Amino acid sequence: MQLADLLDRLRAELTAALAPPSCLACRTPLADAHAELCVACRRALPWLPELRCARCGLPSPCGRGRRGGCPAAGAAFERAWAPLAHDGPARQLVAALKFRGGTQVARLMAAQIAASAPRELLDGVTLVPVPLHPARRRARGFDQAALIAAALASRRELPLARCLERRGAATRQLGSGRAARREAAERQLLRVRGPGPARVLLVDDVHTTGATFDACARALKAAGAEQVRAISYARALPR
Ligand SMILES: [Zn+2]
Ligand SMILES: [Zn+2]
Repeated sequence: MQLADLLDRLRAELTAALAPPSCLACRTPLADAHAELCVACRRALPWLPELRCARCGLPSPCGRGRRGGCPAAGAAFERAWAPLAHDGPARQLVAALKFRGGTQVARLMAAQIAASAPRELLDGVTLVPVPLHPARRRARGFDQAALIAAALASRRELPLARCLERRGAATRQLGSGRAARREAAERQLLRVRGPGPARVLLVDDVHTTGATFDACARALKAAGAEQVRAISYARALPR
């Protein structure tokens, strides 16, 4: 871990020496070498309002105009929360983490989560990243949820357990509809390695339908977890 941090810093310094620093979201060159985002991106970050549904994390009232009310009403997790909407620079940062990797992006996300999360949400929990399918992880070389969870764990000195494993066929999620995504998440086998933690805070980059969090929460509860909450960096808002 320490060696990895050292190598990271070395690589970041080398990159900074060779190329001018650029905004992590839009890649505009930055005048300030220590800034992570350009002024325009910082101003355009789509922070979600404080008034939310505690259950699903959407701006309150969450069920307005939709059949069935709160989308998390039947979910196995008790609470969900995210600092930002999956839009603008937050969306660009999610893409940067997913396709370019980098602990610098994960660290910025963890800082933004830690600065704005309701205090009690991070109390007494063990962080569990939502697992990526092993084949996809091999192809990509890293796992974005695990990067965010590790950065948040070290920032808030929280225990981290990578106890969820995904097996079964990888399914493509981009571009499929809500029902298809839910089905895909349920088809993928989730397994809990070892005794799971009692109080879990699931961590993912984006909360879309909640089907993935729900499947993870169900697996953890079947393995003995008493409480499962979910946190993501960005939240896709229903349109
Ligand atoms: Zn920018
Ligand atoms: Zn709700």
